[in-house]
Amino acid sequence: MTHHDRTTVTRIQLWTLDIPTTDPFVVATGKLSAAQNIIAKVTLQDGSVGFGEIAPFTDLTGETVEDSFATAQTLATSLLGTSVSHYRQSAQQLQDQAPRFPATRCGIETALLDAFCRSANMPLWALWGGADVRERETDITIPICDRERTLALAREWYEQGFRLFKMKVGHDVDEDIRRIEIIHKQFPDVTFLVDPNQGFTRDTAATFIEGVGKVGGIIELLEQPLPKDDLEGSAWLRQTYHIPIAADESVRSVTDAQRVIEHQAADFINLKITKSGVMETLNIATLAKSSSIKLMIGGMVETRVAMGCSFALVLGVGGIEYLDLDTPLLLNQDPVEGGFAYCGSRLQPWMGAGLDVHLPPHANSVVIE
Ligand SMILES: [Mg+2]
Repeated sequence: MTHHDRTTVTRIQLWTLDIPTTDPFVVATGKLSAAQNIIAKVTLQDGSVGFGEIAPFTDLTGETVEDSFATAQTLATSLLGTSVSHYRQSAQQLQDQAPRFPATRCGIETALLDAFCRSANMPLWALWGGADVRERETDITIPICDRERTLALAREWYEQGFRLFKMKVGHDVDEDIRRIEIIHKQFPDVTFLVDPNQGFTRDTAATFIEGVGKVGGIIELLEQPLPKDDLEGSAWLRQTYHIPIAADESVRSVTDAQRVIEHQAADFINLKITKSGVMETLNIATLAKSSSIKLMIGGMVETRVAMGCSFALVLGVGGIEYLDLDTPLLLNQDPVEGGFAYCGSRLQPWMGAGLDVHLPPHANSVVIE
């Protein structure tokens, strides 16, 4: 693995990005007011480069920016001299070295994959087979906020063409129902993905589903209503209310996915490269495709670098029904050149090599070579 060829990693740069969100990103389990992420840039012997993004959401994966940065430096050092042609072997090595840093591993894996594809002159989605290369719609997230702000955000996004709203809920079930009611009354053609981020009990979940039913809102998908280990509860909700449920926090690995399938605890798995790593996400998708469970894909608060990798999975692997790939739209600036584009609620594929993105390095970047 150490013979030097054109795909050998010769240099890795790391720097932080700090981009405020337009509104506080409030979910049941935490709050972010900026994407405090880390960019990894890999350079190969042949001069090809690759970008990846580490997007730690401390409340969800336990990773902090400081720990992630230190871990990324250790992982990067161990990758010098290896070939990106062995990206799956490298992903396994990263998993062994930093099992509790999925977002960190994900960012580095993304940079390796991007560099590999640029060296081979193909888009990242082509590496995964180009199963479904077309424009796709994403939902748009309305964070937990008061009714007035909920309606103002809903109106802004509706005017830009969004019709599938991802409602963050889980602090107060009556207020959650009211927030859906006011959107439904103003914009009856909007439907909802609802994400309590484990914030419901079986009782409040039942109250919520019945309450939204009474006000007439259509819930297309209820994501992770219950604590991640309550698979029996999730199976009970599905059977009792005939409502499609997506497992998010319950599934970080193939082992988790197998458990959810065995318990018939969900209709969908929400893939996220930042919670599982890129290769493990592919493994979960492969398992899901050979079983009866369906797929959606989401992300953390991130730019079009990490989200480009997720969109490449959508285009390459195929069969991913719901896209929750909206967080670049929630940031107050976009530092990324190139890559996929947003046109209203639609994501447009790119045709250039790798992720086809570029970011100028930060003056204070750490260089490992
Ligand atoms: Mg979720």
